[in-house]
Amino acid sequence: MKRILVAAMHHESNSFNPIITSEKDFKVIYGEDIFNNLRDNDSLTGIIKTLQGAGYEVIPTVSARAVPNGEIDYDFYSRIKDEIIRRARAAQKEAPIDAITLSLHGSMRVKKQGEAEGYFLEELRAIFPDIPIFSSLDMHTTMTTRMHNNCDGFVGYKCAPHTDCSETGEHAARMTIAALEQKVTAKSAWVRVPILIAGEQSSTTVEPMIELTNALRECEKREGILAASYLMGYPWADNEDSSIAVYVVTDGDLELAEREAVRLAELIWARKDDFCFQTETYHQQEALDIAFDAVKDGKLPIYISDSGDNPTAGAASDCTDFLKLIMSDQRTDMLKEPIVYGGIYDPTATKQCEGRVGEEISLTFGAKFDPVTSSPITAVGTVKAYIKDWSRGGMIKSDLTLFNSCGVDLVLAEAHVGYTIPEMFIDLGVNPEDREIVVCKLGYLTHQHSLVAKRSIMALTRGNTNEDLKTLEYKQVRRPIFPLDGDFRYNALDNLVKKEG
Ligand SMILES: [Zn+2]
Repeated sequence: MKRILVAAMHHESNSFNPIITSEKDFKVIYGEDIFNNLRDNDSLTGIIKTLQGAGYEVIPTVSARAVPNGEIDYDFYSRIKDEIIRRARAAQKEAPIDAITLSLHGSMRVKKQGEAEGYFLEELRAIFPDIPIFSSLDMHTTMTTRMHNNCDGFVGYKCAPHTDCSETGEHAARMTIAALEQKVTAKSAWVRVPILIAGEQSSTTVEPMIELTNALRECEKREGILAASYLMGYPWADNEDSSIAVYVVTDGDLELAEREAVRLAELIWARKDDFCFQTETYHQQEALDIAFDAVKDGKLPIYISDSGDNPTAGAASDCTDFLKLIMSDQRTDMLKEPIVYGGIYDPTATKQCEGRVGEEISLTFGAKFDPVTSSPITAVGTVKAYIKDWSRGGMIKSDLTLFNSCGVDLVLAEAHVGYTIPEMFIDLGVNPEDREIVVCKLGYLTHQHSLVAKRSIMALTRGNTNEDLKTLEYKQVRRPIFPLDGDFRYNALDNLVKKEG
């Protein structure tokens, strides 16, 4: 039975966020335990099920993932990487490993080091120079020379929101199987497309991504093509690799891979002016004005995204700017029900509410991790609820509290969690369906929230995921790049990056 080593590393690292992401933020699963913790809609699940279904022995090593946040602590990253390598060497000693299939994010960054995946792949390749290595990637991957040089083939998610993670894992596994069984020699081509784009402008449920994604799927139907991906990059990391990448993998035909990658690159460049926000989007004051006006229409709840400080895209999640605006607005107090606001990451303030449900207290919260973008709020209010070790759907555990002040039911979190599901509010005793206005630190709404929202407004607010990219101070990003620089000529062929070695 052929033996295939698998591992997963997922993090989207925001270099504008001063938090250093460390062990406490990660969910790490080792060895056989991975089999007992397979999640739905997960690329690692797709990889493992496909390989096992085809009769392979899967050697699980490490699965590590965290909600996007600041760059990762170097020592923690090294421990995870070394543990995968240690397990790989140990497995190789027992019997030869025939291939490696990975589930990587592609925009993970490490303090003191820079890119994570490229160095990891380079080390793996040095130990296993002759066996196939394939990997699935997040659609928001930042492709690098090291990644390109040290992997046989990548395939990225084609859907944003990412509903096709398992399928993408399955796709990476199928490429691995083809390399082992059909003597396929993967040849891959990468073309850089100098565009910085936020996920909120590149949902695959609207144009131009519908057309572009269809082009990928058509491409993959052609004889000899194994995978075609638009890797959209990640705009909140300031580094020289930041951009969109087109990545095509073929069976042994480098010319075909290059030709198709260049064609797909020209296609996305031609549509660059068509990327736009899919939800109604306004600057923060206007967003609030429109929401208050819309309350009168009675189609409730109205959701507002505090998009500049979105923890699920890597922001610190403790920016108080938009919250201050809401708390100081007289219209907030005039609503029938408090505005529910999810939330502020503040372990100290959260813990100060423990055991004090029903009490009125003075609390200072926010702007502790990122003191530059905003300043803390001090307010008197009532602790309405406290949950210890809250967790749902594989999220890391976090104490949560609900603090009511100035017409707002504010969620405070002990951990850097995403405000992705209405159940978080429900568990704290708030049914969002009964509220007029619900605010979440999100970009576009998650599917779960969108089922509740009668109207969704995205507020352009300040924070580490500021959607107004032109206002960010990039120092490393290679120029010229769209939309930071004015019109410039682009030739896809000149941006084809050849693989070394
Ligand atoms: Zn993504």
